[in-house]
Amino acid sequence: MNYKNITIAGSGVLGSQIAYQTAFHGFNVTVYDITDEALETAKGRITKLKDSYKNDLHVTDEAVDQAFNRMSFYSDLSKAVADADLVIEAIPEVVKIKTDFYNELGNVAPEKTIFATNSSTLLPSQFADATGRPAQFLALHFANEIWKNNTAEVMKHPGTDMMVFDEVVAFARAIGMVPLQLHKEQPGYILNSLLVPLLEAAQNLLVKEVSDPETIDKTWMIGTGAPLGPFAILDVVGIRTAYNISAAKAEATGNEDSKNLSELLKTEYIDKGKLGRETGEGFYKY
Ligand code: NAD
Repeated sequence: MNYKNITIAGSGVLGSQIAYQTAFHGFNVTVYDITDEALETAKGRITKLKDSYKNDLHVTDEAVDQAFNRMSFYSDLSKAVADADLVIEAIPEVVKIKTDFYNELGNVAPEKTIFATNSSTLLPSQFADATGRPAQFLALHFANEIWKNNTAEVMKHPGTDMMVFDEVVAFARAIGMVPLQLHKEQPGYILNSLLVPLLEAAQNLLVKEVSDPETIDKTWMIGTGAPLGPFAILDVVGIRTAYNISAAKAEATGNEDSKNLSELLKTEYIDKGKLGRETGEGFYKY
């Protein structure tokens, strides 16, 4: 692995996790965010992650502390990327914020630096020009709670250099991920291209009163051997997110099923405080 110095831009929910996972696997990590306050918040988040690593991965106090000691924190972008081999961007999912960021990053980063976006819904080709180095740019998409859910979807845009793609696949493996290669751009990558239609189909069965969540889940689990059914997955994702998706679809398309579904999710779940696992109840009680 010829990468040593990794900069994570954006130290929110995912950025903190990516930074800590990378440091845990021995890389020098620089965390960049726009303000020192945001960096202080990130330090708190990362300190909590130490407990998750100890509980979930049964690693030693020494290992979690050593990982933290490999991290440094900057709110000045040129300092944060001064010797970066790879910058992983995990800043807000807003086109203008990301475009402005890549314009600035392209100007201040050394020529050698590779850029990767963790964007969930935007495509790398949208930002390729702004980076000023499209061949050295691609998507590297992690899942929440990356120390346990260790997928890394590595996705090219049409201009990504194949050597860069292979290096980033190797990097993902080096930080304990299972690299999943996408050779063409695909909104939603592989996971959400599969999951979103499944969740939507399950909710349509509910809203049409064909069956109830438990029976629908049981059918999927027994029929395919999956450990969870779609409604148990929705409880993990959060019912607010499911509501936002169906409400947006209802508004954009006027689709009757989406309208009924968003009403059902609001009155029967959200208004009753049943938001999924985070509140102890959603489609199931926890
Ligand atoms: P978040 O809101 O928790 O964190 C965003 C961070 O970016 C904040 O710390 C903010 O201060 C910082 N920021 C804002 N503007 C910035 C700028 N110009 N430069 C640098 N930092 C800036 O967001 P998140 O949930 O961590 O999501 C970040 C990215 O990761 C998004 O593209 C999202 O699609 C993707 N993602 C999120 C998840 C998830 O489950 N939350 C999963 C996979 C991918």
